[in-house]
Amino acid sequence: MNPEAQLASYAVKSDASPGRHHPEPPAASRPEFQRDRDRIVHSSAFRRLEYKTQVFVNHEGDLFRTRLTHSIEVAQIARSIARNLNLNEDLVEAISLAHDLGHTPFGHAGQEALNERMREYGGFEHNLQSLRVVDALEERYGGFDGLNLMFETREGVLKHCSAANARKLGAVGQRFLLNRRPSLEAQLANLADEIAYNNHDIDDGLRSGLLQLGQLDEIDFFARHRVEVEKAFPGIAGRRLINEVVRRMINALIVDLIDASSARIASIGPRTVDDVRNAPALITFSQGMESEALELKRFLRSNLYQHFQVNRMTSKARRIVSELFDAYLAEPDLLPPDYQLSTGTVEQQARKIADYIAGMTDRYAIREYRRLFTVEEA
Ligand code: MG
Repeated sequence: MNPEAQLASYAVKSDASPGRHHPEPPAASRPEFQRDRDRIVHSSAFRRLEYKTQVFVNHEGDLFRTRLTHSIEVAQIARSIARNLNLNEDLVEAISLAHDLGHTPFGHAGQEALNERMREYGGFEHNLQSLRVVDALEERYGGFDGLNLMFETREGVLKHCSAANARKLGAVGQRFLLNRRPSLEAQLANLADEIAYNNHDIDDGLRSGLLQLGQLDEIDFFARHRVEVEKAFPGIAGRRLINEVVRRMINALIVDLIDASSARIASIGPRTVDDVRNAPALITFSQGMESEALELKRFLRSNLYQHFQVNRMTSKARRIVSELFDAYLAEPDLLPPDYQLSTGTVEQQARKIADYIAGMTDRYAIREYRRLFTVEEA
């Protein structure tokens, strides 16, 4: 039986997909989007996510989320919503697991620094880099570069894109030029990402001691769930209290997203994937929840992402990435041979360097910085 036959008419199905760039015979034992998911899990960029972080640097503690655990949480959230909406679970899982593959070490600080250094050479954008990883950089197959994923998986990975970049990307960039939406599965993976990081950053923020429980009561959404938990479990405190509140918040966001999206799908009435592409965004929170989520995000921005201790790390991270880039560009023979271009333009060499740096884990970048810039460890 074809498991995709049971999905909603507007869910993505592999037999109606533009498919893969390099034609391949169908897999005997699994649907095509499951095959994509499996290819992503076996990629080396996926393994490196274990040692890359978003807010905290990998060596700061063993219990903080890494990009690997983040991606797994996104996939979990996205799949449970997809099942409720009768969408393609394999596809949302593939997109979720691949969505951060192109991230530099040290999260946004690393990306900003690399983008700044790449300004004259076409810039650097982690979304675009995730697509580049699956399309070109992975070296696993004899017949082609990259993972040769299905069109809809690639489309979901490319969340944002400037018009200038979209023009260079062919079919997968078209929607940005035509102002069309991606599949519901892609829309869903994007919001599952937000649900995951808003909640785990609260959790990690408390765990690290950079946030205090009392501060969080200024977020209505948090305070309400805390009251509920304390009523259900009088005297509850510490980790158990935090975990009970966070799981309720995640659940409330998921339930709201399912309800609001179902209502929107019912009112707009798409019948096919093409209808979805021409409709406004259909996977959305209710307006009320939208503003709760915004409040949560604002709180995290001013209290955690801009905390002075986080700033100290991001400043260091920017310096590491910028100085590595400058050193490699000035002296390409410092690079491993695979990344040195004997012929080609400076733009091409710069792009190779960006690929090399973006592929580094936090600790690799720190070690490489020491190796290049300190005498003792040279
Ligand atoms: Mg993410």
